[in-house]
Amino acid sequence: MLKKCLSCRKEYTISSTHAQYKKMTQNPSALFICDYCSSNMQKDAQASTGLKS
Ligand SMILES: [Zn+2]
Repeated sequence: MLKKCLSCRKEYTISSTHAQYKKMTQNPSALFICDYCSSNMQKDAQASTGLKS
């Protein structure tokens, strides 16, 4: 299936091997954020809270 990333607006094909595939099939309206943006967001969250991993 094709999902558009909420953050970068690029479209990604979610295959059955994708980590979020099961979630997307169970809840097709679930918000999708690509791996690239989600890792960026984690970095931002760590930076804003001052936590270091
Ligand atoms: Zn993205």
